Amino acid sequence: MQLQQGRVDLHLHTTASDGSLTPAEVVQLALEQGLAAVALTDHDTVAGFTEALAAANGTGLEIVPGVEISSDWPVGDFHLLGLYVDPEDGPLNARLESMRVARLHRARKMLERLATLGMPLEWDEVAGSRNESRVIGRLHIAQTMIRRGYVSGVQEAFQRYIGRNGPAYVPRLRMSPVEVIGLIRQAGGVAVLAHPATSGVVESIPTLASLGLQGLEVYYPDHSPEDVKVLLAMARRYRLLVTGGSDFHGFGVGAGAPLGSVAVPLRLLRRLQRAAEVARQPEERPISTLAANC
Ligand SMILES: [Zn+2]
Ligand SMILES: [Zn+2]
Repeated sequence: MQLQQGRVDLHLHTTASDGSLTPAEVVQLALEQGLAAVALTDHDTVAGFTEALAAANGTGLEIVPGVEISSDWPVGDFHLLGLYVDPEDGPLNARLESMRVARLHRARKMLERLATLGMPLEWDEVAGSRNESRVIGRLHIAQTMIRRGYVSGVQEAFQRYIGRNGPAYVPRLRMSPVEVIGLIRQAGGVAVLAHPATSGVVESIPTLASLGLQGLEVYYPDHSPEDVKVLLAMARRYRLLVTGGSDFHGFGVGAGAPLGSVAVPLRLLRRLQRAAEVARQPEERPISTLAANC
């Protein structure tokens, strides 16, 4: 019963993508904070799950497998969380791998542009020599620019150079939200729209709901009380599950909110869990219901 009153954090990043802590370190921190469950939602990869699961073994901390995938439609910045995806799912992993390769090409192109602007960066400085498989994003580039003294902070790096209107910006290869939702759901996951208010995509929620979206990340560090109110009302209206998380990226430059800093009750995770379970057994329920009615 005590566990039902626990807190969870359903959005965080590790060194598998652009977080600064390893999955095992995140698990340690979650235990220190007394969290009941955490969802690993690295960008375009589920690679951190196995390590986190092993680190949490025997502790009672639940590790929810997840992923965060970006999407464009037709413009804008949609981030979708897949919670409870099967980390072994073939089509999901194949698609994420192609996204990861595209991200590496993109990062290299951005380094070329920065070099022509007089700010050369070595690939190894950005990528880190020890982990070739990690997902390289703009945050890594910004952090390296700061270390080189080209900019004073992440915000300056994005505003002046690598943000959407910056001279070193290269657009990312993205999937459509429909494709992302389908990919998440076929992998047994629950498709949740991440930080809708900070991404400015709230008005798209009704359409996304009709396209198979199942949840909204209502509780988020940058969501105002008014945002939360609006999103809760939309979740009710469109029958969407409610989730929340800190979007923790570790410590250091551009890391953002602390782990567990958003109050998300465990009961919300239980609803998600039930939805994922029901989705995995689509045939069983109608058949038994049918038999009972006949
Ligand atoms: Zn995001
Ligand atoms: Zn995130």
